[in-house]
Order: sequence, then structure tokens, then C-alpha cells
Amino acid sequence: MASSKAITCLKFPFESSRLVRSFEESQTLLLAARAKALAAEGRSIINFGAGEPDFNTPAPIIERAFLEAKKGQTKYTAVAGMPRLRKAIAKRFSEDYGILFEENEVLASSGGKQAIYHFLQTVIEPGDEVLILSPYWVSFPEMVKMVGGRPVIVSAKGERILASEIREKLSPKTKVLIINSPSNPSGTVYSENELRSYIEVIAQSPIWILSDDTYYKLVYPPARFVSVLQVAPDLRTRTCIIGSASKSYAMTGWRLGWALAPKDLIAAMTKLQSQVTSSPATPPQIATEEAVLNGSDAAEDFRKTFLGRRDLMLKTLEGIPGLRCMKPDGAFYIFANIREALKKDDVVEFSKSLLEDRGVCVIPGIAFGDPNSIRLSYALSEDSILEGLKRLKEALHLRL
Ligand code: PLP
Repeated sequence: MASSKAITCLKFPFESSRLVRSFEESQTLLLAARAKALAAEGRSIINFGAGEPDFNTPAPIIERAFLEAKKGQTKYTAVAGMPRLRKAIAKRFSEDYGILFEENEVLASSGGKQAIYHFLQTVIEPGDEVLILSPYWVSFPEMVKMVGGRPVIVSAKGERILASEIREKLSPKTKVLIINSPSNPSGTVYSENELRSYIEVIAQSPIWILSDDTYYKLVYPPARFVSVLQVAPDLRTRTCIIGSASKSYAMTGWRLGWALAPKDLIAAMTKLQSQVTSSPATPPQIATEEAVLNGSDAAEDFRKTFLGRRDLMLKTLEGIPGLRCMKPDGAFYIFANIREALKKDDVVEFSKSLLEDRGVCVIPGIAFGDPNSIRLSYALSEDSILEGLKRLKEALHLRL
């Protein structure tokens, strides 16, 4: 029988591991969470912070996953994803890129984010350097740190990154070049000539390309999406393409993304995934199969809606003095330099007060490597866009 004497246990203060202390929490998610909390309190919040489409997942996609779940598709799947999903992704990209992909060159993961992490964890040794073009998606440098690598940021002196600026940052330790086109946060779509010039810099060195093509379906003519593999098919053995159901098919909450890469790399990433998550969730895999096979029309409707909103944003932003932005050719973000309008004021402080005082959420550019800018997502209705930009203009006018 157990003794009734209480056991005294040592109590010690919580301290997270060195690894967790070594990187930053996602600033975009933090601010978005604050915006949601204020909205839940009943405040009128205009959220330019969202990194996700405001549309619902198209009904046929939801229905397919629901029907199959009801029929018993609720078990673990193969680690790399259901063969039928991997085949469907390979088919979509074979058609869209004009390059033949096989099922064993596809890994389905719990979001593109996880696929990127698995890639970095699989190829990076401690101290390896990863070239990241600025402004960059918040998670790239932090994920590189998490796997023991060193992010090396390449900034443009002019409006766009030049090949010479990449060359200046090359070192014998460079292991990966990350290209994200269209880019989050700037919406930049790299042209064929730009990609060619970047690839020439690294062609003769043992460097991987991580091509984050998450937004490849959201491109606005005359810009045209070009894959690094179309520019240099020879890169096939050292390129990992990242894709996601999140943005193109309005499926952020389903958490399903993928990597397309040489089969040896996919096998190694699968080994890692087997110990981390076993496999992505089953109903989202079924939903994604439906999306990539039959969701192109819905994706095209979303793209057209975003295009209309981009043009509305650009036209309205023109009326705000002291704010400068490049016309984004893709994704659903505008990255605007606000330095002139703010004078010496801090962008982070301004963003916080904009949210607290006027109910407008924007993401400070520092999260993307540029302390003078803010990122405005246009994943919100035209009415909300007009109201939000009106409030932003008022807040800035008070400072001018
Ligand atoms: N890559 C970029 C550039 C992104 O902006 C995002 C999401 O914001 C992702 C990857 C990951 O998306 P998900 O994990 O939802 O597939």
C-alpha cells in the first residue's frame, strides 16, 4: 500500500532550450493573433496582416474529404503521403511546369512550412550558410537557425537583387540559395533573365536551390511565373521545389504542402518525417488531391479577385503621401516603404499604435528584413481595403 507521506519534489524555474531561445517567434502570426483577439472583443478591425486568403475552401474540396472520411479514410497513411496524392501533385506540376515529375519525387507534409523545415534539416550541417534574398519571408532565417545553419541575407542596393549582389555573399560554406517567386512579402516575380543570372552565379558550386513556389499560381500578367528548372533543367539533381494547397486553393487550415525533389532527397526527408509526424493528416491529403486535380478553375477565380484588389490597393495608396511601393506582380501582398511618411518614428511602434488606436493591422517590415517598410496583405474585401487605407491615411496625416 502506498504511504500517505507526501513526496517533496524539486521545483525549478522554466527555461527553454538554447535552440528555442536562438530564434524568434513568427512576428506575423503574433500580430495577426492580437488583431483576432481585438476583433473577438468586438472592435472593428481591418486586417491587412493576414497571410491567408479570405475565401472559403471551395465546397467540392471539402465535400470530397468529408465523404471519404465518413467511408473510413481516417487512418494513418504512408509517411510521404497517400500514393494517389503524390501522383496527383506530380501530375499537376508536370502539366504546369512542362517537366515530368514522378510520384517518388514528391513528399506531402503538414504545410509547405514543414516541407521547408524538413529540407533544411536534411541538407544543412552546423555552420552551413543559406543565402536568402531580402525582403524575405519571416520563417526562412529562423528555420535556418533552428537547424544549425547561418542565414546570409542578400539585399538589393537598387530596386531588385542583382546577380553580383548574390556573388558577393557566396562563400565556401554556402550550401543553399533560397528563391521565393512570387515573393512574400514583396510580390516580386523574378524574370527568366534574373533567374538565369542568379543561377549562373552558383552553377559551378555544390549549392542547393530551395525554390519556394508557394504562390506560383498567383501571378498577374504581363508578369509570368518561371521555374528555376525551366531556366536550367540541369539543376534538377539539386533543387527542392516547395508547394502548398494553402494559398492557391484557400486551404490554409488544412495544413497540406509538399516538396518536389530528387528521389534520394525525398527519401531522406521522408525518413525525418517518419519520426516527426508519421504522415500528414488524412482528410487534408484527400482534399488536396481533389484541389490539385480539379481545383484549377477555383484557383483562377481567386487569382482574378486578388488582381482586382491589388489594383485597388495601388490606386488608393498613390493618394497617401510619403509612402512608396513597387507594383507587386504576384502573391497578395504590398510591401510599402513608409519611412518618409513616418519621419523619425519607429515603424514597429507605429504599427502597434495603428492596431490599438485605429484597428488597422499591418506587419512591420523588420520581420522581413526591412525596418522602413510595412507589409499589407490584400486578402480582404474591397470595402475593408478602402476603409483600412482611409484609417492608415488619417493616422499618417496626423504625423505629417
Ligand atoms: N512559403 C511562403 C513564402 C509563405 O508565405 C508561406 C505561408 O505564409 C509558406 C511557405 C507556408 O505555407 P503553408 O505552411 O501554409 O503551406
